Amino acid sequence: MSAATEARRELEVLQPELEALYARLWATPELPMLEFRSSAALADWLQAEGFAVDRGAGGLPTAFVATKGQGGPLIGLLAEYDALPGLANAAVPARVRLAERAGHACGHNHIGPNAAVAAAAAARALAALGIEARIVCFGTPAEEILYGKIALQEAGVFAGTDVLLANHGDYQSGALSRPCQAVCLGEFRFTAPGAHAGFGGAPNPLIGLELMVQTMERLHGNRFADCSILHVVRQGGVMPGVVPSETLLFLSIKHRESFQRTLDVWRELVRLAEASAAQAGVAVEAIYLSGSRGYLANDTLADVLRAQLETLGPPVYDASALAWMRELADATGASGFTLPEGFAHHQEGCDAYGQDDGDLSWRIPLARVNWALPLEVPLHHWAMTALSGYAGYHPGPIMAATALAMTAATLAEQPDLIRRAEAERRQRASGADLTTPPVGLREVLCRTPEAYWAAIYP
Ligand SMILES: [Zn+2]
Repeated sequence: MSAATEARRELEVLQPELEALYARLWATPELPMLEFRSSAALADWLQAEGFAVDRGAGGLPTAFVATKGQGGPLIGLLAEYDALPGLANAAVPARVRLAERAGHACGHNHIGPNAAVAAAAAARALAALGIEARIVCFGTPAEEILYGKIALQEAGVFAGTDVLLANHGDYQSGALSRPCQAVCLGEFRFTAPGAHAGFGGAPNPLIGLELMVQTMERLHGNRFADCSILHVVRQGGVMPGVVPSETLLFLSIKHRESFQRTLDVWRELVRLAEASAAQAGVAVEAIYLSGSRGYLANDTLADVLRAQLETLGPPVYDASALAWMRELADATGASGFTLPEGFAHHQEGCDAYGQDDGDLSWRIPLARVNWALPLEVPLHHWAMTALSGYAGYHPGPIMAATALAMTAATLAEQPDLIRRAEAERRQRASGADLTTPPVGLREVLCRTPEAYWAAIYP
């Protein structure tokens, strides 16, 4: 029996536990760097499966590294488990807010368990067949702020890893081998002593922030036309009668090719913030958070993944699940319902999102499996939180977990595939500047993540 077939069989045995972990993580949505229950759920489960678990890896309290097996190649699976602020919703096909602070609107309640359970299934299969390899599940927090993998990379946690496997819900089922965008994230804190607004004329940090946004938006179509710049006001004041002592502008800068360009634009925005603050008569502080390159495609690994997927076939949904998803699509206000069927193994073009495993893919060959979502259910939207909590939607994530287990087992059985993937990575990355991205706010995010999310950190 091939290692892939054995891993598939083991995954089937573990499927009830996989689905229980989906539900468990969905029910305890946690903000980036606050994923204490979610990371413990996965780390405990892996430990019970015989993995040696290092908790708090790289100095990140909600990270872990779980390892099983000896010798051979080191095959890593990337687990994510953070949720998104403000997007809690019941697992029903309608907008029903919950009191939770966060919701699994990016489906990381599937991604984390998929990586963990696929790692376990592959490790079981390899042990049964006497194949040497180290299977490692990397518990990587704070993907939504592109933080965990970059901070873990800086701490050397991925050293010695031969290959990495990732998974995500997307708008196609298949193996992904194309770039996404380079991104950097940071925020600007405008400050002044504060005052009773009734006196008038007091320096106002909100005016500094607004001047910056106006100028930035004008320049966006001009000097920054090659970038996508998005912003939110995390702290804008509490009532008109109070001049705030502090405002916070959080922004992301994306570019289709160049991470360096996002850093250069960030530096230009720092100068713009200083000019805006000076005009408003307030102070400003630039706080860089994190950033990542986009994916470096790897066709060798995508081909291995694709072969497993073709064996498995695409996910199949029953009529009641399709009706539920159609109702959810209607509730978003979209017209129509399209759930992509079959496989689309994307190798051309560029995706619009940024991911923190993008940066890893330039240093370690990386493959990603996707399962399809309905086109009318946007990621980072309450409807995605609802879908992520619905058991009828499990066939997609389960297909991805099975493909991950089969791919990990195949790579261990045929290590020459890893050597070819590494040769491809080296060739594609040759000549590229691989400077490690800077990581900011380590102290705040590791020690007082609550203060970060309350926007009251020092
Ligand atoms: Zn995500």
